[in-house]
Amino acid sequence: MRVPLLDLHGQMAPLRDEILAAVTEVIDSTQYILGPKVEQFEKNIASYCGSNYGIGVASGTDALLAALMALGIGPGDAVLTTPYSFFATMGCILRLGARPVFADIDPVSYNIDPARMAEALAQDAQGDKRIKAIIPVHLYGQCADMGAILALARQYNLPVVEDAAQAIGAVYLMQTGGQTVWHRAGSMGEAGCFSFFPSKNLGGVGDGGLITCNDPALAERLRIIRVHGGAPKYHHGVVGGNFRIDPIQTVVLDIKLARLPEWHRARRRNAANYRRLFAQTGLLESGAVSLPEAVYEAEGLTVGAECDYHIYNQFVIRARDRDGLLRHLISHEVGAEIYYPIPLHRQGCLAGLGYEEVSFPEAERAALETLALPIFPELTDAMQCFVVEKIAEFYTR
Ligand SMILES: *Cc1c(COP(=O)(O)O)cnc(C)c1O
Repeated sequence: MRVPLLDLHGQMAPLRDEILAAVTEVIDSTQYILGPKVEQFEKNIASYCGSNYGIGVASGTDALLAALMALGIGPGDAVLTTPYSFFATMGCILRLGARPVFADIDPVSYNIDPARMAEALAQDAQGDKRIKAIIPVHLYGQCADMGAILALARQYNLPVVEDAAQAIGAVYLMQTGGQTVWHRAGSMGEAGCFSFFPSKNLGGVGDGGLITCNDPALAERLRIIRVHGGAPKYHHGVVGGNFRIDPIQTVVLDIKLARLPEWHRARRRNAANYRRLFAQTGLLESGAVSLPEAVYEAEGLTVGAECDYHIYNQFVIRARDRDGLLRHLISHEVGAEIYYPIPLHRQGCLAGLGYEEVSFPEAERAALETLALPIFPELTDAMQCFVVEKIAEFYTR
């Protein structure tokens, strides 16, 4: 049996006609840049996320870049972020001439650890006070600990840009004045950055991204930055870029958005299936494998139908002899992949910038021990059984 890490055919097939009709309508309209289809989509995403504004951009990377530009991040500044994420999180900081300052991750959630952030912020405050923003990443589809992160942001008066590229719709429980209130990823900081790369839970037929925010002035700045900083057209008070999303993408994404809650449910069901299947192998007791935890689920709050505490963009296990296991799975046509094999502070593009001396042990350990298994919504029970069987086989050879 072949089990791919991701197979989009099953998702596209039932939507194909509807999508082709919507794309055809865009093509026939000749409105190929921005316009009403993009605006409708921006409203729909903002409303789904619980944010006031949505600004569609060309990718998740452009979302991060534009958000940092709108906040005025530039040369000499530093941005506090996680050392364990997709490269774009750090790439955008570097492209603006700023430096990433890292705080290590929590070993259970793989998200930035507020205790380590507090240390980095205290150190910066005693030194040259270069940290001008914070980028938490909601890795694999689960929110970083935003309550603690926002408390630090308030203490140091710093804006928070949520990298929610992997976490559209993920729910976080905020304790406010003795009450528990739920929020979706991207709606809690100054800006939320989303990606519609095809492998994300909401993926386009190509690249796409979006920024959410609640402040009308920031939304306006982002809209201007998206079109080269021109406002009005040909009058450039600031330097922006061409960061626009195409209407061809937004009409596809709008159709898919309606199915997103159902796909989140299917991914959660698959995660529960893995838990059940792994429990029967003895691999968890022996410590050969440990499974990802939905850390907020334990708090037990069911908010209506909203229980997307983890949307499982990836289902990432820790595995003994991870590289051996990966080879074994690949040789049996099971798609598995390492997200991410090299922590950001060890990337070659930082060579000579002083990051050789720093160490983030949890990020480094995660890079050595973790492996993503197939979790896409259309994965079948038989496929999941096969994956777990092959993993069990590896440890009992
Ligand atoms: C996918 C991703 C991005 C970048 O999104 P693109 O649309 O591919 O540019 C940024 N951050 C994280 C955490 C991601 O997973």
